[in-house]
Amino acid sequence: SADRAGARWHGSGSTADGHPIKLLANIGSAADARAGVDAGAEGSGLFRTEFCFLDAAVEPDAETQRQAYAAALRPFAGKPVVVRTLDAGADKPLPFLDIADEPNPALGVRGLRVAFDRPELLDRQLTAIVAAAAETGAVVSVMAPMVATAGEAAWFAERARDAGVERVGVMVETPAAALCADEILDVVDFVSIGTNDLAQYTCAADRMTGALAALNDPWQPALLRLIAGLGRAGRERGKPVGVCGEAAADPLLAGVLAGLGVTSLSMTATALAAVGAALAERTLSDWQDAARQAVAAPDPAEARSRAGRSLERG
Ligand code: PEP
Ligand code: MG
Repeated sequence: SADRAGARWHGSGSTADGHPIKLLANIGSAADARAGVDAGAEGSGLFRTEFCFLDAAVEPDAETQRQAYAAALRPFAGKPVVVRTLDAGADKPLPFLDIADEPNPALGVRGLRVAFDRPELLDRQLTAIVAAAAETGAVVSVMAPMVATAGEAAWFAERARDAGVERVGVMVETPAAALCADEILDVVDFVSIGTNDLAQYTCAADRMTGALAALNDPWQPALLRLIAGLGRAGRERGKPVGVCGEAAADPLLAGVLAGLGVTSLSMTATALAAVGAALAERTLSDWQDAARQAVAAPDPAEARSRAGRSLERG
C-alpha cells in the first residue's frame, strides 16, 4: 500500500540486505527535475534533452542550450545526472533537424545516427552540456541514444571525451548493442538499457502500435534474456548497467532487473516510492531467484507469475 511504501522508502535504494540500487528520476525539464528531487530521487538516470527544444524552428545556439540544460541540472547539484544527447528522427521529429521522411522511421536515421552526418551538431551540444554541468555542480554523465555497434559507441565516446565529458555511456536500445555488451563496455564507462526501444526492436513490434502491445511487454522472456547478458557483462567489468525505460517503474520487474545485475533504475518520479518499497522488501538473492524464474518462463504472463511465486516461497 502507499502507506507502507512511505514507511519503507528513505530516498536511497537498496535491497533488504543493503545491496544498493540507485533510484533515479527520468526528466525532460526543470519542473521534472524538481519533481524528481521532491520524490526522493538520488539523481537522474535519463535527461531527455530533445524535450527542451520541441518547438525550436532553428537549432538553439550554445547559450540557449546551456541555459536549458542548467535549469534542469540545478535541482540535482551534487547528485548524478545522465544527460542524453538529442534523440530525434522521423518518428520523433525536431523541427530544426529537418530529417527526411522515411518508409520505416523507427529503423531510420534517428538518435546518434543523426550525428554521423552532422557531427558539429553533436559537438555543440556536448560543449553546452559540459558548461551547464560546471555551472550547476551536478555530477554529469552523457550518453547517446540508438547505438547499434561498439564502433558507434567508440566514435561517440571519443567526441564526448574531447568535449570534456568525464563519464561517457551509451543506451542499449537495439538487440545488436545488447549482444555486443562486452565490446561496448570496453569503450564506455556505463550503459543504460532503454527497455521501451529494446522491446520494440527485439520483438520487431512498433511501440506506437497498440495492437502489438503484448509483444512490447517488458516481461517478454527474450527481452529479459538480453538484459541478463548485459548484467553479466557489467558485473564482469565492474561497470554500471542501468535501466531507464518504463520497465523500471514496475515494482516487481524492478526487483527482477536488480536480480539480473542492473545497478540503477530510472523512472517517472511518481513511481519511485512504490519501487523503492518493493526493492527493500527482499534480499538480492531473493531477487536473483525471482529473476532466474522469469528468464526461464515461456511468455510474459508466466514470467511475471513465476517471479511472484518465487518471492512467496522465499
Ligand atoms: C527507451 O527507449 O526505453 C527510452 C528510455 O528512451 P525513449 O523512451 O525516450 O525512447
Ligand atoms: Mg529510446
